[in-house]
Amino acid sequence: GSETNDGSVTAESVPSLMKHMPLCMNRLMQGVMSDHHLKYQGRQQLSLFLKGIGLSAEEALRFWQIQFTSGPGSMSIERFNKEYKYTFRHNYGLEGGRINYKPWDCRTILSKPRPSKNEYHGCPYRDLHRDQLADQLQKMGLDQGARLDDVLELSDRGEYQVACTKVFELVHGEKIDTLLKNGDTVDETSITHPNLYYSRSLYLES
Ligand code: SF4
Repeated sequence: GSETNDGSVTAESVPSLMKHMPLCMNRLMQGVMSDHHLKYQGRQQLSLFLKGIGLSAEEALRFWQIQFTSGPGSMSIERFNKEYKYTFRHNYGLEGGRINYKPWDCRTILSKPRPSKNEYHGCPYRDLHRDQLADQLQKMGLDQGARLDDVLELSDRGEYQVACTKVFELVHGEKIDTLLKNGDTVDETSITHPNLYYSRSLYLES
């Protein structure tokens, strides 16, 4: 489709877009890249998000096949085609009831069963232990200190989306300041959807 021809989102370019993704999607990306697999809820959460950022059905199948079948201990292409191809096509409305499934918003993500061991779905601000969350936030570029503590505090209080919005502001602080200095307006409403986090981040880069 056109999405693949204009150089926007392809199977190969998805990892380079992680810097624009909220922590929930970053975690799923890290998970699929290290395990060459994702369990059901994780597959759904990430694949619908990727659909929302403009990954076409064709490129999505390539993305998942590459992730699931490359690297040590990964499955064969035959097994991928037999057991997994259908579900990814299904998410694009190409199988079954042909429903055009929408990317999940934060509320939907928070309403799903919580991740158990070896699962990466859900909202990390709710589902990660404090230490793990602090670790992930530092990987996103937040320094240890008051700001990081603020985010952890918000998570402890159950204000997951506020925590996520705060992280967005901290990660993109310089760019937001530049825009404001130029007299541009910046959307400061709360993050309620992972795809909103992504498009806002992409907008700040352009
Ligand atoms: Fe993802 Fe929403 Fe949680 Fe942010 S608040 S990490 S976008 S589920």
